Amino acid sequence: MASCPDDSPRSIIVQMGLVFHLARAVAPAMEAHVAAAWPNEACGLLLGAVEGGCVRVLAAVPCANVASDPARKFEIDPAALIAAHRAAREGTGARVVGCFHSHPVGGAFPSARDVAAAAGDGAIWAIVAPACGAVRHLSTEQPSDWRIGWWQSSRNGFEHLSPREDAV
Ligand SMILES: [Zn+2]
Repeated sequence: MASCPDDSPRSIIVQMGLVFHLARAVAPAMEAHVAAAWPNEACGLLLGAVEGGCVRVLAAVPCANVASDPARKFEIDPAALIAAHRAAREGTGARVVGCFHSHPVGGAFPSARDVAAAAGDGAIWAIVAPACGAVRHLSTEQPSDWRIGWWQSSRNGFEHLSPREDAV
């Protein structure tokens, strides 16, 4: 099968020796799930591959948010996480390289709760927030544009990953 241009890596993010390739379909998939879940927090898994110092994020998989208070927190459905790990092990799915979630009325950066929850394991975190920034006054209207912050959970906390559009 010919490769689809939409799946070709678009962005390379270089940070602390890490090269980060982002497939074109990832951002739209996250934004669609965030819009569908609004005003609750949306969440999901990032699938891809890790080779040497290179992380490829190839797909964003929406998951149910099973948190007790989904308007304020997220908790990825453990069954979805187990299924993704099993698929990767069995060779029917890509490896889990991170997760994404939304801040319906916050910024595209880790909250204090995110910092407390992060494992420092090198996972990629994408945080999707309204493009207009702090919009608590707009919380009754769904934002039409989203901003995505890319982060890596390291032993020293979250490292911000800055996208570069000159790709591959
Ligand atoms: Zn958060």
